[in-house]
Amino acid sequence: MRCPVCGEESLSPLADLDASNWLVARFKRPGLLESRPSFAALHARVCRSCGALLPFLDQKQRDELAEEWDTLIPVAPDPKPETPPSPESPS
Ligand SMILES: [Zn+2]
Repeated sequence: MRCPVCGEESLSPLADLDASNWLVARFKRPGLLESRPSFAALHARVCRSCGALLPFLDQKQRDELAEEWDTLIPVAPDPKPETPPSPESPS
């Protein structure tokens, strides 16, 4: 499996993340009182070349994510490309 950071074919087998260090992705819901969909990455692979640590959901979480996919709302606006400075602005 290829590392998405350095591109080397050097990812480890799947390992368990320590239960106190699970990474949880939380999305928004339209209403404030609605429970937020959240998905914990319980596993990780490590790149032998660059040391990148890549978290992965397990199959149950992936199934739940697939069910919620069309209802997920980003927690922040998508980043916009930087606008170039206008000619009249001081440099
Ligand atoms: Zn790497």
